[in-house]
Amino acid sequence: MTQNIFCIGRNYEKHIKELHNQRSDKPVVFSKPTHALAAADGQSIALPSGQGAVHYETELVIKMGRDFEPEMQVDDLVDEMAIGLDLTLRDVQQKLKENGHPWLLAKGFPQSAIISDFFSFPGVEQCNEKTFSLLLNGIKVQEGCIRDMIFDLDEQIRYIASHFGLKAGDIIFTGTPAGVGPLSDGDQLVFLWDDTEVGSCIIVLR
Ligand code: ZN
Repeated sequence: MTQNIFCIGRNYEKHIKELHNQRSDKPVVFSKPTHALAAADGQSIALPSGQGAVHYETELVIKMGRDFEPEMQVDDLVDEMAIGLDLTLRDVQQKLKENGHPWLLAKGFPQSAIISDFFSFPGVEQCNEKTFSLLLNGIKVQEGCIRDMIFDLDEQIRYIASHFGLKAGDIIFTGTPAGVGPLSDGDQLVFLWDDTEVGSCIIVLR
């Protein structure tokens, strides 16, 4: 069962550029309530309307298989992974940023963390050789590889553990590559790990 949902922002250079953000010298961390979770198991998922654009951010999600201990490596700590969407009310987030307010209103709404089934984590080395991607109505709109991360999985885990604690069942959305964009009512989403479909859903936005 998922305990805490941590998310890393601004972790891929090209995504930072597309949103005209600044690169940070430390991981940018935020979290979502557990009510944000929604399974990409083929179901229709309702999202907020009337608050501006809802953007998809496709991310590799890791799950802690055991409580953090400093001497352990990523491959010892992480037991499963998934592909997920860190959904973002982009217009709301822009206003929050301008006012220096936390992002929770833009990032923490119900069903804002859509996630495929978890599957066995193959290890960092193998993840470095594979891609994760999102098909939007059959067209690949995002493709990423964790090799391109600014802060790698080990740095993320250590940073989160030192500031917030990190235990078995906690999950981390590890940041989105470039290509984020708005969702529309009826959009069909398919999550791919390499070329294998690992989840899907249909967006309801009215
Ligand atoms: Zn994100």
